[in-house]
Amino acid sequence: MSFAHFLFLIKALHLHYKYSKPHFVENRLMPYKEKQEQFDRRYLEMARIWAKNSYCKRRQVGALIVKDKMIISDGYNGTPSGFENNCEDESGRTYPYVLHAEANAITKVAKSNNSSENATLYITTSPCLECAKLIIQSGIIRVVFADKYHQEDGINLLKKAGIEIVHIKFE
Ligand SMILES: [Zn+2]
Repeated sequence: MSFAHFLFLIKALHLHYKYSKPHFVENRLMPYKEKQEQFDRRYLEMARIWAKNSYCKRRQVGALIVKDKMIISDGYNGTPSGFENNCEDESGRTYPYVLHAEANAITKVAKSNNSSENATLYITTSPCLECAKLIIQSGIIRVVFADKYHQEDGINLLKKAGIEIVHIKFE
């Protein structure tokens, strides 16, 4: 092989890598995106199972806070610590002091050594306005939910704050 031929081969190889690189990156990103979708669905399924801990009769909601692929907190709707495990009065109306699942999950982080900064919240029902405020202030950057709450002002506030919203429907 002549030196010129050798140089030509090196150049050809260089060009090959240069132009195949974006393709390579794309191929590496594709499974990641699919994996993220799969993780989202599975964490949300776990939140749905966690909701079963709630003793509320009207609606059971479950929440998980995930950061760096670790569950750092969990919650379900219920009364504050030390209160009777009863969410509704005799007429079936929810007591005003009942905490929502995401509020319980966020305040649980406050009690721990963890930080919810840049974390993802998995919640079975989309957040209400009051919880949306807590989500924004806690530094959560993604919210993945399954069912839509009857009011959409919570979701709208989160969107306004630049929080990524992912809606996964279950059959
Ligand atoms: Zn709420």
